Amino acid sequence: MSGEGEILKRNGFGFKKKFGQNFLSDQNLLRAIAEDAGVEKTTTVLEIGAGAGALTRILAGCARRVVAYEIDPDLKPVLAETLRGCENAEVVFRDFMREDLPALEKELKEYVVVANLPYYITTPVVLRFLEEAALCRGITVMVQEEVAARFSAREGTPEYGAITAAIALRGTCEITRKVPRTLFYPRPNVDSAVVRIRFTGGVAVQSEKMYRAVVRAAFSSRRKTLENNLMTAFLWDRAAAHALLEEAGFPANVRGETLSPAMFARLADLISARS
Ligand code: SAM
Repeated sequence: MSGEGEILKRNGFGFKKKFGQNFLSDQNLLRAIAEDAGVEKTTTVLEIGAGAGALTRILAGCARRVVAYEIDPDLKPVLAETLRGCENAEVVFRDFMREDLPALEKELKEYVVVANLPYYITTPVVLRFLEEAALCRGITVMVQEEVAARFSAREGTPEYGAITAAIALRGTCEITRKVPRTLFYPRPNVDSAVVRIRFTGGVAVQSEKMYRAVVRAAFSSRRKTLENNLMTAFLWDRAAAHALLEEAGFPANVRGETLSPAMFARLADLISARS
């Protein structure tokens, strides 16, 4: 059993499914995650979901500062032990989903996010940063393998979706490593992967709001053509939707999921120019 494992046991800690508590202890993997995230001596890290602090401690060893959120107050005594001596790490015992991100950013300045989160909140957390963050330079997050495939999918594949296009607006995404379920305790029912989203090199568009509206429309009903989805979303008649697709150079029967993020941006710019 790892150091954290013993400390958890000694503190009578009971793992809570509702908080998605599947912890890591493999030191090589934890170090590799910090490396994947590009954490250096000058980096401020925002960690979400400290757990028993195994990743927090590694991050504290490579970063300038680590601010870690943890929702479960039962982990207070555990983290007090596991993070002893990590002067540059602080734990905030609150639900990250309820935090005021702009206020937090004022305090952090430039930062990267590193997280091994419960799977049910991974996508909402990532979306939050994509849509609201101004000073975030990147997110390195453990996700279910299927979710990793969705984050980094190419257009025209079944995995490609609104989240892929939302990431492409901000930057680029790569799967940095696969993580088998055997490396977690308790062991989950799925395998995982670490993905790194860099907040640089996103598609250029005049209005992010319009890009998001186009993407939402495109994926609102995968069984329908883009023309039909645009008609519903923007309350247009067929002639208007048809004219737009023609101007963009797309066939009338094109489906949203075959368009690249750059093509969504082109459509968004054409709509912006008309309104
Ligand atoms: N980082 C640790 C590790 O890798 O071993 C723990 C990972 S565990 C999958 C996720 C952690 O996130 C749990 O400790 C859980 O209590 C915490 N958590 C769940 N929801 C949260 C939220 N909304 N805000 C902050 N922490 C949360």
